[in-house]
Amino acid sequence: MADPPTPPAGTNRQWFERARQVIPGGVDSPVRSFASVCGTPFTAARGEGPWVYDVEGRRYLDLVQSYGALLLGHAHPAVTAAITAAAATGTTFGFPTPGEVLLAEAICERVPGCERVRFVSSGTEATMSAVRLARGATGRDRVVRFAGCYHGHSDGLLAGGGSGVATLGLPGSVGVPLGAVADTLVVPYNRPVELDDGVACVLVEPVAANMNLVAPAPGFLESLRRSCDEHGALLVFDEVITGFRLGEGGATSWAGVAPDLWCFGKVIGGGLPIGAFGGRAELLGQLAPDGPVYQAGTLSGNPLATAAGLAVLSNVSAEDYRALSDRAAAFAAQLAKVVVDGGLRAAVPAVGPLLGLYVAYAGSGDGPLEPPSDYEGSQRIAASGAYAPFFHALLRRGVVVAPGPYEVLFPGMAHGERELALVVEAAGEASAEVASAPPA
Ligand SMILES: *Cc1c(COP(=O)(O)O)cnc(C)c1O
Repeated sequence: MADPPTPPAGTNRQWFERARQVIPGGVDSPVRSFASVCGTPFTAARGEGPWVYDVEGRRYLDLVQSYGALLLGHAHPAVTAAITAAAATGTTFGFPTPGEVLLAEAICERVPGCERVRFVSSGTEATMSAVRLARGATGRDRVVRFAGCYHGHSDGLLAGGGSGVATLGLPGSVGVPLGAVADTLVVPYNRPVELDDGVACVLVEPVAANMNLVAPAPGFLESLRRSCDEHGALLVFDEVITGFRLGEGGATSWAGVAPDLWCFGKVIGGGLPIGAFGGRAELLGQLAPDGPVYQAGTLSGNPLATAAGLAVLSNVSAEDYRALSDRAAAFAAQLAKVVVDGGLRAAVPAVGPLLGLYVAYAGSGDGPLEPPSDYEGSQRIAASGAYAPFFHALLRRGVVVAPGPYEVLFPGMAHGERELALVVEAAGEASAEVASAPPA
């Protein structure tokens, strides 16, 4: 193998200043800015397994992992080889390719009840297209979604969104006409919904991972399934994060509840741009060219993205997921303990390998910090203001987590016990540092 390419010259600050001259805010997605934690983001030069290196050659143990797009870590040899091989035979055709068939088969084999998938190029497109299909198939307009969940940045689904929308405190966005959200109903997570016969679909993150981590309460997903069945609405699981991360069968296998439509993204592209939505054959048959619901994409099913995704799925076994979940659970318990011992309040809930990270100042309340059950609860903890200084204290110790309090930790297949122990050590020190200087 050739040596890794040397990073282009320039400091983090110089690169970010250059970026701001040509890219709004210096970033191509708002979550990447340090807007909510202040400061200048580092510019990534390369990655290797659980590590990311900035342009100054500094290395960080990376728990962001491209917001969950990477399951095997950075530059996994099998993924790199698959992409290289695919690139050498042509990057896009506008004709059907074997790669998209193989990845679709791999998805349908693993997700119980999912018989057909169509590929798109992002998670945003997946949810947008699934909603159109749900509306077309039911002949109804209304969409019910949950506060603090994030379903991409399409007009109709931004209202009440988590992730960057939450971090930046936007109710949705300027530029979205009222008409575009007139049929979107936002309700609180983890509470049963009242539906009527005008609802096309209920769209939900089966494990909410864009308002920090909020697990579904026992019976919540079952209650959504029942309500949808009673009123002829479709249940849509947005598994852009949970798909192929919680386990081979995603949230469907984890929760034992099957939706009518699935949305995927992130992991299934192995770090390349992709999205997919799927469901029963009869329902997906409503899509053009067989049916009346139009949906399309020049780069959909792209050979590089499908090759990378297939390399990921074929390099993880059910046993790998179990081992990762066990490792993550032990890590979560240690992390919570050292942060509390350091002097901050903390909760580190775990669902499979997905971890939440809640920190608050001691003065923010009594007793242990309870993981919240909805967006309001998550916002209350974030309001303590401890996350930003904790983030920087971790970063100074060579550990990077998301620069905002509404994301989750993504330990993956490349994070061994040794690397996770480094995070635990850094977190204990960071907590003590932050707790010793609470805001006046
Ligand atoms: C990331 C995400 C999306 C949007 O995917 P993009 O590829 O960023 O468009 C949608 N839903 C959920 C749950 C996500 O986490």
